[in-house]
Amino acid sequence: MPILRVALNIPVDTLFDYIADEADENDIGLRVCVPFGKKKVTGIILDICSDSDVPLEKLKYIICIFREIPPLSSELLALLRFCSNYYHHPLGMVVMNSLPGKIRNNKPVSFKGTVNHTGFVLTEAGRKIDIATIPSRNTLKRRLWTVLQNEQLLTLRQARDISPRAVTILKGWLDKGWLEEAIETGSDSIKKIVPELTEEQSVAVAAITDKFKQFETWLLHGITGSGKTEVYLRLIDRALKENIQTLVLIPEISLTPQLETVFRNRFTASRIVSLHSGLNDTERLTGWLQAQQGRADIILGTRLAVFTPAPRLGLIIVDEEQDSSFKQQDGLRYSARDLAIFRARQMQIPVVLGSATPSLETYYNVLSGKYRCLRLSSRAVRNAVLPPVECIDMRSEKTADGLSARLIHAIGKCLDRQLQCLIFINRRGYAPVLLCPSCGWAAVCQRCSSRLVVHLQDKRLSCHHCGHQEYFPRACPQCGNQDMIPFGRGTQRIEEALATQFPLARIQRIDRDSIRRKNSWQTILQAIHRQEIDILVGTQLLAKGHDFPNLALVGILGSDRSLYSTDFRAGERLFTQLMQVAGRAGRAAVSGSVLVQTEFPRHPLYQALRQHDYDVLAESMLAERKMAGFPPYVYQALLRAEAHNLTRVLDFLGAAQKIAYSHHAGVEIFDPVPAYMARLKGMERAHLLVQSRSRGKLQSFLTRWCEQLSALTAFKVRWVLDVDPIEF
Ligand code: ADP
Ligand code: ZN
Ligand code: ZN
Repeated sequence: MPILRVALNIPVDTLFDYIADEADENDIGLRVCVPFGKKKVTGIILDICSDSDVPLEKLKYIICIFREIPPLSSELLALLRFCSNYYHHPLGMVVMNSLPGKIRNNKPVSFKGTVNHTGFVLTEAGRKIDIATIPSRNTLKRRLWTVLQNEQLLTLRQARDISPRAVTILKGWLDKGWLEEAIETGSDSIKKIVPELTEEQSVAVAAITDKFKQFETWLLHGITGSGKTEVYLRLIDRALKENIQTLVLIPEISLTPQLETVFRNRFTASRIVSLHSGLNDTERLTGWLQAQQGRADIILGTRLAVFTPAPRLGLIIVDEEQDSSFKQQDGLRYSARDLAIFRARQMQIPVVLGSATPSLETYYNVLSGKYRCLRLSSRAVRNAVLPPVECIDMRSEKTADGLSARLIHAIGKCLDRQLQCLIFINRRGYAPVLLCPSCGWAAVCQRCSSRLVVHLQDKRLSCHHCGHQEYFPRACPQCGNQDMIPFGRGTQRIEEALATQFPLARIQRIDRDSIRRKNSWQTILQAIHRQEIDILVGTQLLAKGHDFPNLALVGILGSDRSLYSTDFRAGERLFTQLMQVAGRAGRAAVSGSVLVQTEFPRHPLYQALRQHDYDVLAESMLAERKMAGFPPYVYQALLRAEAHNLTRVLDFLGAAQKIAYSHHAGVEIFDPVPAYMARLKGMERAHLLVQSRSRGKLQSFLTRWCEQLSALTAFKVRWVLDVDPIEF
């Protein structure tokens, strides 16, 4: 009898064996329902063998194999295996967590997945049906039928607008063979403006399409506004002509709807699915199935979409490749960008990494010849140039509530010309801390090693790490002083200061607090485009990708605090962020300028920003990293541990360090240290860093170490390995 080796979502690094009456090689990759303890769970068949390490009489029978959707392909399973090996995470959990929730359920999935822009048309058989056969009291059915007869296509969206029950009725008719699914091919009213490519864009497109169907990692290094998106569009266009699927990965939060719209407007006849965190389970399943069946041509998604099955996959694009949201920060700490590159190599297809400020890892790979770089060095729109950047020396400047006289003057002039300004301060809330001036007490979170942020509007203090909130204390709990002061500035306070300075201006704040409601971001974007807003104040949410045609001035506040951080990546991150915000200005007909308020106007980072010179800064940062022995010159892994009790955490890490020393050839082991956030949500956290100049040596060390760590159960701590960590 065949024995199935099954991946289950169970936190132990093993597969589970079950017996089946019948199963063969072709069933590998299928879903299977099995008994586990007292429960029924669903897993994926990863192997079929004739014997097991478990005695035969102890093996249980499977409950059933689900065959309604095709099995996961061997390529996808290889990607998941690689992921499990590289990140040292149990294979079963890697496999199961890569799948949509509904695939993990103990139920067959419905096969008739449809996406929003698809709809239904009458079949030959359907057209022969007489509407009189539908009873006239059934008004909904009659109405739907009339629409189907009169319009060529009834889209799902329209159907849902007519009635929530409409889709069920339509599916019933689909089963009867009266309807078939069709795709909205776009109305002619949508104007397709396909610009002529710039010289540099043409070179990039030609270089990549020349080498379609072979593996190559391309870096598309283009300044903001250089038209990287247009390059993606042309590549996808070519892919569509060759009948291959494209996977486009984009960062979290930001831009899915905008990019989706751009794609839909350009490729009206193509099938686009988008997979991001805003979807419900059914939508996610539907998109995933469309991709798996090869029915979607373009798959647009965030991090997790890197695991989407796509039988005709021929091109992968990773936009804003430097974005930290490509790295998952809990559980399986994978990098979707790095897995995308692995997947491209495995399938021998090109992968395009796009960025204005590539990560130093990527840039290093270009310098060493591993990746190939294509440059877009000027803005695509005629006459648009990068805005001049100037520093305002805050040591000698008069200020009012954190705004320098020069910035206020510049904003005033901008408003006079009826243009928009953007004030960037990457700190939400009113003030980052509440202080007692007489004794120095500061409000801190009881559960985290962080200070509580002042939110004046709702008179609360809030922890931005765990979400804890409390009311303002009436007096200092330490000395009784009643005059507590909010210290420092956040978006709310700057918004208030701007309102004082410019009482007539229409000001909009944009941060996680102000766009919490679904769609509020969309509404605000529209208002910006209709010029109903004069001044935007906001955090990094504003930095990315948006085109604001009337934006003439960008002011940058409070960025100094990242200049001398202990985190060796802080400078890189700040530079990326500032280049992005600065890039918002002067993208269209309106020319722009950027003002940075700083006490360190001579800092190399600001100098590079002034010259828009990524390369000079990148090279100097790389030189520093080389000297200090940091990535990309070494490969790192972090053993992260947490528990309620710090001593236990440190004891565990001490023991881990000891066993590490027994076999660490070529691998450097550091001492355990508290994490940057030493306490988070009531848990004490510490970590131990290991690193090596050889990725291979680090990997074989980690494999052995991991096995030994699993035996250290007595310490009762939660631990996880973070390979290629980007946060400490
Ligand atoms: P990036 O993503 O590189 O910052 P975008 O792709 O957003 O830049 O392009 C910036 C602007 O330039 C967009 O408004 C886009 O429509 C326009 N654009 C892109 N390519 C061209 C071109 N070849 N000719 C004219 N306009 C272009
Ligand atoms: Zn006090
Ligand atoms: Zn907290």
